[in-house]
Amino acid sequence: MNFKVALAEGDGIGPEIVEAVLAVFSAARVPVSFERVEIGLSVFQRGFTTGMTREAQETVERVGTLFKGPMETPKGKGVKSINVTARKLWNTYANKRVFRSLPGVETPFSKAGIPINLTLVRENIEDTYGGIEHFLTHDVALCRRFITRPGSEQVHRYTFEMARKNGFKKVTCGHKANIMKLTDGLFLEVFYEVSRDYPEIVANDVIVDDLAMKLVRAPDQFQVLVLPNLQGDIISDLCAGLVGGLGFAPSANVGDSVAIFEAVHGTAPDIAGKGLANPTSLLMSGLMMLRHFGLMEHATAIENALYLTLESGIHTSDFGSRDKKACSTKEFAQAIISNIKLPADIAELAADKRGSSNAAERSGHRLLESAKNGGVVVGIDLFVESNNQPPAIAQSVKSLLARPYKLTLISNRGTQVWPSGSLLTDCVNQYRVRIEVDEGVSVTERDMLRLALKISECMRISSTEMLMKYKDLPAYSLAQGQS
Ligand code: NAD
Repeated sequence: MNFKVALAEGDGIGPEIVEAVLAVFSAARVPVSFERVEIGLSVFQRGFTTGMTREAQETVERVGTLFKGPMETPKGKGVKSINVTARKLWNTYANKRVFRSLPGVETPFSKAGIPINLTLVRENIEDTYGGIEHFLTHDVALCRRFITRPGSEQVHRYTFEMARKNGFKKVTCGHKANIMKLTDGLFLEVFYEVSRDYPEIVANDVIVDDLAMKLVRAPDQFQVLVLPNLQGDIISDLCAGLVGGLGFAPSANVGDSVAIFEAVHGTAPDIAGKGLANPTSLLMSGLMMLRHFGLMEHATAIENALYLTLESGIHTSDFGSRDKKACSTKEFAQAIISNIKLPADIAELAADKRGSSNAAERSGHRLLESAKNGGVVVGIDLFVESNNQPPAIAQSVKSLLARPYKLTLISNRGTQVWPSGSLLTDCVNQYRVRIEVDEGVSVTERDMLRLALKISECMRISSTEMLMKYKDLPAYSLAQGQS
């Protein structure tokens, strides 16, 4: 009985490390059959802008699991990272990475006798990774950052479920809610809401910069971390550094339908084709995949063999003692294989442990939405291009406004410059003009858009944003300096 997995070898060192991992899996009689799919550089070069063929997408959606080597995204505009595309396309909302001290991999912490065992879950879909960017003026670029309640709930629930299953006692949320009160604030709020369903687990939070410092000073105070996408990206590489680098950090991208297992390092073009690459990160990602399938005994047997190999000082050229000659990728895999000890009764599996995706059951997109809590329009922010001084902009806008509309704020790069501010605030050619409606007056989005149209007669509007109130509370931030 076999689990089915779509296999993409990847680019650069990808084929070499995939071959090494498959040799180890085969020696451990892992009951997984691989179906090769075309994803990566060569597919881009054949003109597929997503980096994958239609057949590859169908195979992944049918079998529900993708095991992949690192992939190169061609440089230049118009092509998006294949790795980010794959994660977002199949809604693998949780990126789980495990960072553990390994025998034979010397780090400042191993030398100090401080063991590291950290699991980090990074939200994988939202944040600035929507890649929604625009130039508002020739000088000013804007990136939109999405944090949603349903998206946050998915990743937090995954994290707490994973913590419960693995017997972790504490989950820590990293964030920047002190500055980004609405976006990171929402991520943090949902974290604590979800945590109430897991009373046996301590839930706490740390501001991300403080987290970075604490991880470097005393990483053993954390067990499980959960972070928004970009902060999680940066902190996960920091954690990889704590245990010896990217070569030792496995990664799983998990969603409700598809899971992707991959090494976190890149294609290492400098050593590609030379047989020097270290397959450890991909092998450890493969072990996460086996555990995801419930193949615990196979995973443990291979993990023990890997640890034994590392302990004995066998290493590839990117790590380990210089006293012992570095071995090739193939020799490293062979050393692991020779250390594998399988229990005699391994390999029988319960039928319900097979992997599969539910893609075929879908007739449309799933719409994620939490309970509605009303919302009224109370104004509009207009992002305008101008080289004028703030009082002149205010005068122009005010000359076009009548009750119930009032100009309440002009800011530049988020800092208030009208009605008050400091002349020491340098400005660029893009202002935010905030127009609000008198308290209690009911207006619609159309009213606000009509108003924007009128103001566009005197200045160039590059973007607009409705100002809403939910449950009588403003659903927009104030400018720096605004009270
Ligand atoms: P890289 O991780 O490929 O290489 C950085 C350094 O680490 C190089 O010196 C390399 O030789 C070394 N290295 C990496 N993996 C190694 C391994 N397994 N064994 C031994 N040494 C290893 O990062 P990069 O050079 O910034 O990126 C190269 C390419 O990889 C780029 O095209 C990038 O887009 C792509 N990339 C892909 C992924 C992915 O597929 N998940 C992730 C990161 C980068």
